[in-house]
Amino acid sequence: MIQFFSGFKSSIISLIAFFVAFMLLSKFQSYWFVKINLIEQVLYGLFAITIMLSSYFNRSRLALAAIIFLVFYLTLSQALPWQTWVFSHGEWLVLTGAGVLSVLSVVKDRGLLSTHGFYRLTLILFVGVASYFWFDIANVLVVKLTRVAQLEPWLKYLSVELPLVFFALLLVWRCLREKSLVTTALLSSYCIWLGQYYQLITLPWSVLLTLMIMHYFFVVVVDSYFLAYRDELTTLPSRRALNQLALSLGRKYTLAMLDIDHFKKFNDTYGHDIGDQVLKLVASKLAQVKGSGKVFRYGGEEFTIVFPGKTTEQALPALEAVRQAVEDYKIVIRQEQRKTKQARSDKKGSQVKTVSVTISIGLAERASKLNFEQTLKLADEALYRAKKSGRNNVSE
Ligand code: GH3
Ligand code: MG
Ligand code: MG
Repeated sequence: MIQFFSGFKSSIISLIAFFVAFMLLSKFQSYWFVKINLIEQVLYGLFAITIMLSSYFNRSRLALAAIIFLVFYLTLSQALPWQTWVFSHGEWLVLTGAGVLSVLSVVKDRGLLSTHGFYRLTLILFVGVASYFWFDIANVLVVKLTRVAQLEPWLKYLSVELPLVFFALLLVWRCLREKSLVTTALLSSYCIWLGQYYQLITLPWSVLLTLMIMHYFFVVVVDSYFLAYRDELTTLPSRRALNQLALSLGRKYTLAMLDIDHFKKFNDTYGHDIGDQVLKLVASKLAQVKGSGKVFRYGGEEFTIVFPGKTTEQALPALEAVRQAVEDYKIVIRQEQRKTKQARSDKKGSQVKTVSVTISIGLAERASKLNFEQTLKLADEALYRAKKSGRNNVSE
């Protein structure tokens, strides 16, 4: 369940940030309105930078969305020949834009200038063509469904609102499912797109697009940061992030080194994949550490917890609680059985089992004249003592 809604928190936070920015823009219109010409010119630069940056950092979905909005903006400012046609087909336009945004939320980020990029472009064109023909199909459906009395009052929503709701649901589902700021950015663009169509928003397109493209830019930067400083398997901050934190620590802090006991044997018994699952779950337990401890994956099955401004005595209860929590944690694993004929026929191919692991912890407080690396080494030595004295304990 938690896995399913893994994108909830990040989506909500970035959506709120986006809409706060939007409200501020609306509220302080008089300040920027005098500079609208400048905004219009800067917008092209912003488009160019964002498209280049997002394709360079492999966020090709944002690059594609930005390209589509750039084409739209160029069309809007009368620079392209198909302007009259596009704006006399308002419903087609809104459906195509919405469709493209939700399709982009489903596909994966792949290289823009590759065959994948070509397929995605084809898909976008397909959405445009499909929306064009959808209105004919919708008309036929309306004629057929008019006979059903209960449906009658709803039929006027069939051609535009129904697909819009479908696209919105798809986008929201993707946002919840995928822990990625890209889908959230697509969702906020979708809200703006619809807000304009239904005239709920009265800001000029140049300003809205500036906001949208800045959001994309922000997502690319934040995402690349996470790529560099987060560990992919456990989603904990990585060792690189630990080194960054080390630079900003004061004179007083306590470090803990944690290591899963007999993990090699665990891997040998249950396999590396289950080992990975367990590593993830242990990491999620460690992440709940109290006492303002900051958790990092140091590497392999080793973790580091930093307690800024704390002594060993102050950090000890939190670590003892974490050690106990991991020991008590009954991890449910699903083990694939060898597929016998019977197992295949009665679908009992996997066996549910509970396992548990323990961790050993070494603890060291920074002493005067010691730097971060030296304190870490002390914690590592304490961890060695914890292992020596029978594992599953905390040693100073
Ligand atoms: P102890 O720490 O109690 O002394 O024994 P250990 O077996 O845990 O110690 P050791 O450090 O020798 O082994 C660490 C093992 O952890 C080796 C490797 O199989 C496993 N391991 C390290 N990283 C990963 C990982 O990312 N995934 C999985 N599944 N296993 C890992
Ligand atoms: Mg180890
Ligand atoms: Mg170990």
